[in-house]
Amino acid sequence: MSAKTMRVIPYVEDHRNCLLFKPSEDLTENQMASLQAALKQAIQAYYQLEDDELAAEPLPNTNNRRLILFYEAAEGGAGVLRQLISDREAFPAVARKALEICHFDPDTGEDLLRATGASEDCEAACYDCLMSYGNQRDHRLLDRKSIRELLLSYYKSTTSSSPGPDPRAEHLRRLLNQAGSELEKRWLQFIDERNLNLPDKAQHLFEPCKTRPDFLYEEHYVFVYIDGPVHTYPDRKQRDREQTECLEDMGYTVIRFGDLDEWEGIVSKFPHVFGITK
Ligand SMILES: [Zn+2]
Repeated sequence: MSAKTMRVIPYVEDHRNCLLFKPSEDLTENQMASLQAALKQAIQAYYQLEDDELAAEPLPNTNNRRLILFYEAAEGGAGVLRQLISDREAFPAVARKALEICHFDPDTGEDLLRATGASEDCEAACYDCLMSYGNQRDHRLLDRKSIRELLLSYYKSTTSSSPGPDPRAEHLRRLLNQAGSELEKRWLQFIDERNLNLPDKAQHLFEPCKTRPDFLYEEHYVFVYIDGPVHTYPDRKQRDREQTECLEDMGYTVIRFGDLDEWEGIVSKFPHVFGITK
């Protein structure tokens, strides 16, 4: 997501999917409570979840709302929080849903004042938008108008993910510093420009195979080598093949990037690793 507006940290613990939502600007108590209710309702609506399937809590606590923790109530849930990050269309779509739920026209931002079919205008919040029986303690804080601008900006945002807890730009900077060659840097930029998934690590020594592949996608057990045209020499090819075999025997997938004009085709073959190119 755009670094300007927020930072989102997904992680998995006890097989329950969680997502920490941290707006990058300081928001008021009313805004944080309203955002929590709006996003919870919108995520549920977008992914067709029941109210009890998704939980949302302020962190560190209700008196100090800095972050919103979303988690799927059931272990091994539907995995929607992960999709919210990996599917780049999802978060803007959820923000659009949240605008609709809050009685705003998502395209113009116009205040439609009430839900379709409702008999009265909604001033701050009603049971058609932010109020639910589960968030009664927050009712006094809820104000749909306080988050209109935020939701509109989220609706226009693009999602970019980082494999670790650091924001994407910081993670990229570290990878660029660790990269072993100009070509590797160029490859990182190639990945970043397309908003594809960045690797977790660069130059990670893999002792069992006596090799230091250029990049590692830890979760997918994928090692990436940026060979460039130089590796077409026969002796290099032989060594490359041995390393690949060793890594594959250890259960890893090896993806090699040779000539630059082939890079695009290679990433599109592994959408589960690199994400989808637009
Ligand atoms: Zn309402």
